[in-house]
Amino acid sequence: MRIGLVRGDITEERVDAVVNAANSTLLGGGGVDGAIHRRGGPEILAECRALRASRYGGGLPTGQAVATTAGRLPARWVIHTVGPVYSPTEDRSALLASCYAESLRVADELGARSVAFPAISTGVYGWPMDDGARVAVMTLRESSTTVGDIRFVLFGAEAYSTFASVLAELSLE
Ligand code: ADP
Repeated sequence: MRIGLVRGDITEERVDAVVNAANSTLLGGGGVDGAIHRRGGPEILAECRALRASRYGGGLPTGQAVATTAGRLPARWVIHTVGPVYSPTEDRSALLASCYAESLRVADELGARSVAFPAISTGVYGWPMDDGARVAVMTLRESSTTVGDIRFVLFGAEAYSTFASVLAELSLE
């Protein structure tokens, strides 16, 4: 498995699967979620609505992942996962790790060879970037996924440099 870093907008990545930091309603939101639905078009939302009507009547639980079409995005699938809201008093990192692990499990089921991840939970959900990057990289390293090309797509310069130092530090261990 190769882990790469890209600075930019995840909706522009040419990969088999793009991971969406969704919320449990699966009906869209701000941040990455908003960008994916805007750029990907109504087909994605239509599949999300169908998932709510069938398997996920109560919403997609935190830490789980489910795939839909990628609509007009230059990808084949969007894998929606729900990150935990950061808590300074409760350790929710197992749920954040589960988002990465479950997204890769779904990617393996689909036969995806390349997957782009955003920094899940580090936006509106408030997770500190450094810790979020650690959880992400450690979870991917422990995975037995068959996805060969994994990219973190980071929106800003600071997110990019934080991921770069965490990746360098953890691969030296
Ligand atoms: P969450 O609710 O899980 O925190 P957000 O979408 O608010 O999700 O933010 C997750 C991360 O994605 C943040 O670091 C944010 O800056 C970043 N982000 C927002 N839009 C994009 C985009 N189009 N491409 C890549 N990353 C993005």
